[in-house]
Amino acid sequence: MRKFTGDKLVIATHNAGKLAEIAGLLTPFGVKIVGAAEMGLAEPDETESTFAGNARIKAHAAAKATGMPALSDDSGIEIKDLGNAPGVYTADWAETGQGRDFAMAMGKVHDKLLTSGAAKPWKARFCCTLVLAWPDAHDEVFAGVVNGRIAWPMRGTEGHGYDPIFVPDGYDITFAEMATPEKNRISHRADAFARLVTGCFA
Ligand code: IMP
Repeated sequence: MRKFTGDKLVIATHNAGKLAEIAGLLTPFGVKIVGAAEMGLAEPDETESTFAGNARIKAHAAAKATGMPALSDDSGIEIKDLGNAPGVYTADWAETGQGRDFAMAMGKVHDKLLTSGAAKPWKARFCCTLVLAWPDAHDEVFAGVVNGRIAWPMRGTEGHGYDPIFVPDGYDITFAEMATPEKNRISHRADAFARLVTGCFA
C-alpha cells in the first residue's frame, strides 16, 4: 500500500456537494486540496459498469493532467427492489438535458418502487468508491457503504443528491434532515474514507 506523502491533492470531481464533503473529511490531515473545476480539468466519460472502474477513470485522468496525486469518488444509490438500480447510473437518472434535477430523479425512484409493487421497507444502500491515483499510474482503491431505506415524501434540506429520500439504518431521519457532521460520521463516503486514511494517510 502506497502512502500519500505530499501536501496537495487534486479532488477529481466537478460535484460541489462531494467536493465540500471530501474537503471536510480531509481537514484533520492538513492537506491542501484543489478541485477539478478550479484546475480547469474536463470531466472524463464514465464508461465502466462499476463504481471502482469509473472512480479509476476520474482519478487517473486528473493525476495525468495535473502531474499531482488525485482523489476521485464514484458513488451512487442501490435500491434492492429495483435490482440495485440506479447504481452507477445514479447521476444519470437526474439528467434533464438542462442540468440535473434530483427532485425529478427521486420522484422516478418512488414511481418505480410503486410500480414494482415491492413491500416496505424499501431497502437501499449508498455506495462509495474512492481512488487515490498518482501521476505514475499507481492507484489505491477503497469502497464504503451505508445501509438504509427509501422514505417518501422527500424530507430535509441538508446535503445533496438523493439525501432527502434516504434514511440510514438506526435512524428515523433522512440524510437531508441530519446535521452535516453526523452524516460525515456514518456515510458511505466516511466508511470509504476511513479505509483510505488507514491505508494511505496513517
Ligand atoms: P457520480 O459518482 O459523479 O457518478 O455520481 C454519483 C451520484 O450519486 C451523485 O450525483 C448523487 O446524486 C448520488 N450520491 C452520491 N453520494 C451521495 C450522497 O452522499 N448523498 C446523496 N446523493 C449521493
